Amino acid sequence: MNHTLERWNITKSAELYGINEWGGGYFKIDNNGDVMVMPSPGCVKRAVSIREIVEGIEARGLGMPVLLRIENILDSQIAALNDCFLAAMQELDYKGTFQGAYPIKVNQQQQVIEEITHYGSKYHHGLEAGSKAELIAAMGMMTDKKAPLICNGYKDEEFVDLALYATKIGYKCIMVLEMPGELPLIIERSRKLNATPILGVRIKLATQAGGHWGESGGERSIFGLNTTQIIAAVDYLKQEGMLESLQLLHYHLGSQISNIREIRTAVNEACRVFAGLVQEGAQLKYLDLGGGLAVDYDGSQSNFLSSRNYTLNEYCTDIVEAVMTSLDETGVPHPTIITESGRALVAYYSMLLFNVLDVTQFQPDPLPEELPEKCPPQIKYMYDTLHTLSVRNIQECFNDTIYYRDEVRQLFNHGKITLRQRSLAEKIFWTTINEIARVSKELKHVTPEISDIERALSDIYYCNFSVFQSLPDAWAIDQLFPVMPIHRLNEEPIRNAIIADITCDCDGKIDHFIDRHDIKRFLPLHELNDSQEYYLGAFLVGAYQETLGDLHNLLGDTNVVTIRVLDNGEYEFVGELEGDSVSDILSYVEYDPKRLLVRFRKTAERAVRKGNITAQERREIMQAYEMGLRGYTYFER
Ligand SMILES: *Cc1c(COP(=O)(O)O)cnc(C)c1O
Repeated sequence: MNHTLERWNITKSAELYGINEWGGGYFKIDNNGDVMVMPSPGCVKRAVSIREIVEGIEARGLGMPVLLRIENILDSQIAALNDCFLAAMQELDYKGTFQGAYPIKVNQQQQVIEEITHYGSKYHHGLEAGSKAELIAAMGMMTDKKAPLICNGYKDEEFVDLALYATKIGYKCIMVLEMPGELPLIIERSRKLNATPILGVRIKLATQAGGHWGESGGERSIFGLNTTQIIAAVDYLKQEGMLESLQLLHYHLGSQISNIREIRTAVNEACRVFAGLVQEGAQLKYLDLGGGLAVDYDGSQSNFLSSRNYTLNEYCTDIVEAVMTSLDETGVPHPTIITESGRALVAYYSMLLFNVLDVTQFQPDPLPEELPEKCPPQIKYMYDTLHTLSVRNIQECFNDTIYYRDEVRQLFNHGKITLRQRSLAEKIFWTTINEIARVSKELKHVTPEISDIERALSDIYYCNFSVFQSLPDAWAIDQLFPVMPIHRLNEEPIRNAIIADITCDCDGKIDHFIDRHDIKRFLPLHELNDSQEYYLGAFLVGAYQETLGDLHNLLGDTNVVTIRVLDNGEYEFVGELEGDSVSDILSYVEYDPKRLLVRFRKTAERAVRKGNITAQERREIMQAYEMGLRGYTYFER
C-alpha cells in the first residue's frame, strides 16, 4: 500500500468536495469511499450507495449517462418547507396559515407533479401554472380542492375559460393579473360562463434583488402592475361590483435570492401594498411571495450567487415576522402566506451520473540529457533557467522562460529556427512550468500569475454527457453545481482536472467548480485505472435543467431512473425511462428515419454494383446503420 493511500481518508474527501456543506443532509461518504444518498436527512440507516445503484442500472441494460432521481427526497423537501413555516407561525403566534404552490416550470415532469400533489396533499401544497399547458397538466393531476392552483402568465380567452371552469368544479384556482388588459376579458368570460373568479394581482415592487434573475422584480420588471395600475384595477372591479373577487396579492422577486435582506425588504413593501388594498375595501386573504428561496449549491452559506446567507428556518421566521410587524401596525388580519418555491423543492432530488471516457494529461515529454550542439542561444537560456530554478527566483524564472519561449516562436515564424528546435523549446518550457508549479507549493504567497499555473496544467477528463443537454445553466449562466466522484473517496484524488463533455464544442466543458471561499478552476479527481469505470456525479440538478437542455450535436435526453428508498434501507426502481435514440433525435430535427434508411440502402447498393463492397458486406453495413438508429446518442461501451 502506498503512502498517500494510508494518509488519505473519507473525512478529507468530504472536506475537499464540501459534501456535508452543500448536501442538505441527503448525502454522505461511506467508509468504503462511496457517496451515499439518504432520503431522510441524516438518517444513516436508510443510506444507499450511489455506486451500487449505478451497478444495478447498468446490469439492467441502461447505460451512462443517467439522470437519477430519488423520489423520497421530494417528500422530505415538501415536508421541510411546510413544517418550517408552520412551526415559525406557531412560535410567533401568527393567526393565518401557510400554503405552498409548486411552480410547474421548474421541473414539469409528470413524476414530479404526481409526487408533489400526492405527498403534498397532507399540507394542501398546490401548484402554480404559468401557461395553458401547465394549467391543463395541473387540472389533470390535482385532486386536492383545498390546495391553491395559481395561474400566472399572460392569459388568452382559452386560458381564462379553463381557469374559470376549474373554479366552477371547486378548485381553489386563483387567476393572477399580470397586466391591466386581462381584467375586462376575465370579467366578460366569467359572466358568460356564470363563474365567480378568484383573482390575484401581481405587483411590481421597487425592491430589486441582485443575482441572475433580479430583473424579475423591480419596477423595470416586465411582469406585474405598478401602483397606478393597481388602483385602476381596484376601481374597475368596484365599478363592476366584483371587488370581493380580489383575494390575493402576488409578487416574484426572482430566483435564487442569496441575500435574506432582499427577501425581507420585499416582504415589507408588499405588506404595505396589501394593507393599502385592504383599506381600499379588497378582502384579501392570500399573500403570495413567489419563489426565490435559494439553494446553497456551494455550501458556503454566503450571499454568493450560488449560495444563500440564511437557513430555511431563518427564511420562514423572517418572513412570518416581517408580515406580522407590517400588518399588525395597520390592524389588517394575518393572511394565508403562500410561497411558490420551486428550485429549493426539487434541486436535491436529481443528480446526473456519468462515466469518464478518457484523460489528457499535461505531462511534459522527457528532455534530452544534453542540448544538441547547434542550438540557438534562446533555447540555451531556457535550459539554464530550468536548472537554476529555486524557491527564491521562482518569479524571475517564470518571466524568463515565457520571454524566451515567445522569442523562439517569433524566430520560428521568421524561418530562423527549425520545427524540431521549436519542439525542444516547448518541451523545456512546459517542464519549467511544471517545476514552477511544484516549487511554488512550498511558498505561502505566490503571484496570481503563478497560482494560475495549476489551472493551466490541469488534466482534461472527457466525460460521457452533454453540458448543453443536461446542465444547460452551467453553460448559459455559469451556474455552479457540485461535481464529485461517487466512489473511491478513500483514495486521494491526485489529479487536478477540468471536465469536457462529448459534444465537439469548446464550450462543452465544466471548468468552474464550487468552493467555500471562491470559485475553483479545477476539480481534484482520481487517476483512472484500467480495471474499473470511473463515475462522477453532478448534484442538485433537479431544478430548471431538464427541459431547458437542447440537442447540441444531436445528443438527446439521457436515460432516467427513479428510485424510492424503503424504510428498511432497501430501494426499488419506481421508474425507468430510456433516453432518446438516434432515430428519436433525428425526427425532432425533421428527418424521417425510414426515408434515411431507404436512401442509405440505395447508396450501399450502388457501392455493391461498383464492386466497392460485396452483397454480404452491404448486409452488415445496413445492420450497423439500423442498429445505430435504434441506439443511444451517448457513448456506449
Ligand atoms: C420561476 C418562478 C417561480 C419559482 O422560483 P424559484 O426561485 O425556483 O422558487 C415562482 N413564481 C414565479 C411566478 C416564477 O416565475
